[in-house]
Amino acid sequence: MSNVVKFLDLSSQYLKIKSEIDNAIQSVLEESAFIKGPHVSEFESNFSKYCDAEYAVGVGNGTDALEIALEALSLPAESEVIVPANSFIATSEAVTRVGLKVVFCECDKDNYTISIKDLKSKINKNTSAIIAVHLYGHPCDMGQIMDIASLNKLAVIEDCAQAHGAEFNGRRVGSIADLSTFSFYPGKNLGAYGDGGAITTNSKDLEVRCRMIANHGRVEKYNHKFEGRNSRLDGLQAAVLKVKLKHLDEWTRRRIEIADFYSSKLEGIQDLVLPKRESWARQVYHLFVIRVPDRDALAEYLRSNGIQTGIHYPISLPRLDAYKYMNCESFEYSDRYSHEIISLPIGEHLSDADINHVVVKIKDFFSS
Ligand SMILES: *Cc1c(COP(=O)(O)O)cnc(C)c1O
Repeated sequence: MSNVVKFLDLSSQYLKIKSEIDNAIQSVLEESAFIKGPHVSEFESNFSKYCDAEYAVGVGNGTDALEIALEALSLPAESEVIVPANSFIATSEAVTRVGLKVVFCECDKDNYTISIKDLKSKINKNTSAIIAVHLYGHPCDMGQIMDIASLNKLAVIEDCAQAHGAEFNGRRVGSIADLSTFSFYPGKNLGAYGDGGAITTNSKDLEVRCRMIANHGRVEKYNHKFEGRNSRLDGLQAAVLKVKLKHLDEWTRRRIEIADFYSSKLEGIQDLVLPKRESWARQVYHLFVIRVPDRDALAEYLRSNGIQTGIHYPISLPRLDAYKYMNCESFEYSDRYSHEIISLPIGEHLSDADINHVVVKIKDFFSS
């Protein structure tokens, strides 16, 4: 066991695949394939296959992916987009940035993704879209969400930033909704060495529109059909991602193994709520989030025993200063959970001794 059980350890991951990564970066440099080029198109093709989607468009980051996806849908100006109250701010930020209105929705009390019941109650004549966030790597109930959307003629975007390779009923996330967005922020399950993102879709029209928006509305060089923006996945990041994608299934298997270990060993502790994995979910455990009454005391105890933890997220979106102006209603679960959740270390960097140490110390905490 190492001295500290790290929450994330990208340098140990790099060392395991160093020669592959170094060669990939070297070839980008030698070819000067910095923008567009073969690494980007090969990665897009490999990643769309990985997601069981027809198309993938590389973009600058996961936040841009959301903005571009929303713009590509050409939703009525100022119409309402329903987003979960518990997510990273990028999800709601993108909605406001493109001139649409954010409507926050409660989370499911057990699996933490968007509550189907509350979602139904938030739909009105101004609603135009739903963003389904596969939070912590657990897929939303996409069966019900797509049914609700088609009944009400709403667009659906899957925010897959935390869920590369997750599945709903055997279907890969990124292949189900109209458009799906991914982040390759370094700490995500598939991470670049800088910012990166992608949009996947099965619609040729939407693929073309996203690609044009991300590249100045360009038809060909110096011929622009409309004003877009500059948000492209660059060649160096694509080359890194192409290497890492080959290892993703192995790394995800290890995440699931660790999650199963935590779940079996921590079961039965009275004040500790384990994450629920729905029967229809392939959960890829971007995060392993438990709930305890005194989360801060547990975090401090683990820290003093060399175990790093995180909180995702300490303030639910409607309670952020950024959204004070909305005067949101209170949410029974997402408000309360933000004070009870704590994320345990998970990832391929952890040894069996590391995860055993985590379990032992959590048990110590609850027995003292
Ligand atoms: C990380 C993340 C994003 C944003 O991705 P960036 O690449 O950092 O812009 C969006 N949504 C969720 C749920 C995320 O976790």
